[in-house]
Amino acid sequence: MNERPACRADVRVDLAAIRHNVTVLSGLAAESGARTMVVVKSDGYGHGAYTVAEAALRSGAEWLGVASIPEALELRERGISAPLLCWLYQHGDDVTGAVRARVDLSVSSESQLRDVVAAAGATGRTARIHLKIDTGLHRNGAPAELWERLVALAAKAEADGALEVFAVWSHLACADEPGHPSVDVQAERFRIAYEQALAAGLRPLRHLANSAALLTRPDLRFDMVRPGIAVYGLDPVPQEGDHGLRPAMTFRSSVALTKRIAAGESVSYGHMWTAPAETTLALVPVGYADGVPRSLSGRFSVWLGGERRPVVGRVCMDQIVVRCDDAPVSEGDEVVLFGPGDEGEPTAEEWAERLGTIHYEIVSGMYRSRVSRTV
Ligand code: PLP
Repeated sequence: MNERPACRADVRVDLAAIRHNVTVLSGLAAESGARTMVVVKSDGYGHGAYTVAEAALRSGAEWLGVASIPEALELRERGISAPLLCWLYQHGDDVTGAVRARVDLSVSSESQLRDVVAAAGATGRTARIHLKIDTGLHRNGAPAELWERLVALAAKAEADGALEVFAVWSHLACADEPGHPSVDVQAERFRIAYEQALAAGLRPLRHLANSAALLTRPDLRFDMVRPGIAVYGLDPVPQEGDHGLRPAMTFRSSVALTKRIAAGESVSYGHMWTAPAETTLALVPVGYADGVPRSLSGRFSVWLGGERRPVVGRVCMDQIVVRCDDAPVSEGDEVVLFGPGDEGEPTAEEWAERLGTIHYEIVSGMYRSRVSRTV
């Protein structure tokens, strides 16, 4: 971590870490006879969907998962031919384009089933679907009381050749709280829904586990697992021990300007910090428009010159100011805002804790127009 970012700020993605994490996760899945679908929605949680997809598919993943149809189509346009599941679309979205591009679609309702059957008719293809049962998260997925009817309609459409029901699936609400009773409740509802699909003559695969369930509940790996956050090296269940994951994202910038100020001088908008002694300040050209939350003002540090140094005064739209005391800091020196933490630099987890959020939000929010991404 000592070469300078190419522009004012960049997000550096360590693909070796992604490959390592996918190898670890798909190895665990394989121990249970399960395949791995790597979740690359939201531009690969801010790491770059295409680059992560390619690396993951070379490291043990067989499937990719995204939320929206445009995300799926972009991967296809860029040449990704692996099986790809898309789970969040609405009436009017390009379902036909998805079927034409061999994107598997999640189906949670009769109207979604009708859209997919229509798309299959329009394209002359057999569409592949994953029937989603709502086992208790109560977001997406068919409610239990509508499940049997949906399964029967899907079985009929399959018999007609319009579609293939590839899997039955669901998503857990509290997998990152191991021992939470809802996990078993959801697992039992999932079992019942699967039995009902079998009774309707379907022969689908099953998938349920996100990263946390993959790591803590081998019994819930079924035929496929869907890790997201763990692929990026961020552990959703660190309280359960070290899973050997390597964070892939480093957010960096460099010193644009240095200056000395006298004791008693105050810094940045609102003058919320006053120097207790003469100090060197380093100006770093990143701010809240680049992904440094203003609410971190006065409560965080950066890694500069092999040490943590406090950011003083308010975070502005485009810049922050670092207190360096008498350290020899020069323009152009690398500044790490967060990284894997190996050298002592702040981490995405630390930011999340300070901001009262989760590391998912920190990394997936790092896709900004003024911040470049390098791998
Ligand atoms: N499956 C679905 C349906 C999801 O929406 C997500 C992400 O939220 C995942 C799997 C991956 O979850 P995680 O990042 O917790 O592993």
